[in-house]
Amino acid sequence: MAISGKRMMSLLKTLGFERLSTYEGEKKAAEILCEEIRTIGLTPVVETFMAPRYTVTNCSLTVTAPFEQSIPCTGYGFSGNDAKDGIEAEFQYIEGFEPIDLQNVKGKIVLITQGLTISGYEALIKAGAVGFIATAGTFRDKLSETDLDERMLRDKHTEHGKLPGVCIRVKDALSLIPKHPTRVRLTLAQEEGEAESQNVICEIKGSTYPDEVVIYTAHYDTVRFSKGFFDNSTGSAMVMELIRHYHENPPKRTVRFVFCGSEERGLLGSKAYVAAHEEELSNIRLCINLDMAGPILGKEMANVTGEEALCHALSFIYKEAGYPMVVRQDIYSSDSIPFADKGIPGINFFRAASPGTSQIHCRYDVIDILSGESLAKTTKFVAYFSDRVINAAFFPIERKMPDNMVEKIDRYLLKKKNS
Ligand SMILES: [Zn+2]
Repeated sequence: MAISGKRMMSLLKTLGFERLSTYEGEKKAAEILCEEIRTIGLTPVVETFMAPRYTVTNCSLTVTAPFEQSIPCTGYGFSGNDAKDGIEAEFQYIEGFEPIDLQNVKGKIVLITQGLTISGYEALIKAGAVGFIATAGTFRDKLSETDLDERMLRDKHTEHGKLPGVCIRVKDALSLIPKHPTRVRLTLAQEEGEAESQNVICEIKGSTYPDEVVIYTAHYDTVRFSKGFFDNSTGSAMVMELIRHYHENPPKRTVRFVFCGSEERGLLGSKAYVAAHEEELSNIRLCINLDMAGPILGKEMANVTGEEALCHALSFIYKEAGYPMVVRQDIYSSDSIPFADKGIPGINFFRAASPGTSQIHCRYDVIDILSGESLAKTTKFVAYFSDRVINAAFFPIERKMPDNMVEKIDRYLLKKKNS
């Protein structure tokens, strides 16, 4: 049975709902993937792990002087409960996190509009701010057509303490600042904990070299408000199609497929997989990660997290196949990173959408911009490339990670501070 764009599009439709880490949608998606694997004739394995989960129980923001105005907001997950009974304080808009920006923020609630970095959060705490207001969206947002982002802090943010914060629309911030608010009242109460998420795994043993493993990863979770057609039902559908492909064409080496949960929360599924399979990692020779393909208008790409030699090999093969693509030596913000961190080379195949033709991480991650034809094209090339690797007489890719990639991985995983 050949790789089918139609079948992939139909799986996209089946998975067409919000699949937020640890919630029902993510669980339901995992069950759908398991069922599909059983339909192929294989047995899925579900591995659970714990992921952070918060529930905001109360959240509000009100300007109290020199006028009164309530501003719609969402609470930052894991930003603590210091404002659970409400805090009223002076308001200040800061443009950055330099000492000059922070000299007078002690005891104040600050508005930040440049994004909340980890070092910025730490600087706010050290400077004595008592709360923060961050912005989301664009000046063009229409209430009925957009959702106000729900955000949470990561572990690294809260290493130096917690500062309660909310997120408001950039549109509201634009109208607020010219009116010079001087005092605001912020309330945020939340439950902070964790809940179960899961990876779905399936393996086909190699006939000749069963101990040499190529691992395929794709995340199936989404952020809030997104049905995640492009990001990343497409990659999940491609992995499913590759399972079919290798079920019908038994491979010489072992192929293992991991549908990762909680990627959007910080690659938690792939991190959990790597942590749970530490002893077996030495057998894994390559990670092929699929995160976003299928746009009707786009450009085939591959980010190679590995040696320059692998870029050259891939360039040779795409030319041989008559398949135009751009190959770069780089990391890719997705599930190949925890493997690369263990020295396993990664190739991230994706099809970048042409400018203006896609949106992700919001309600506009829709199926309309995607086609089965595009999806099948990328999947066929991935199968073409991976057949050559998996059935090679000798494994053609060295299990090595060059220093420039180690450097980038370390920065990404915040082992080093960004300079
Ligand atoms: Zn993604």
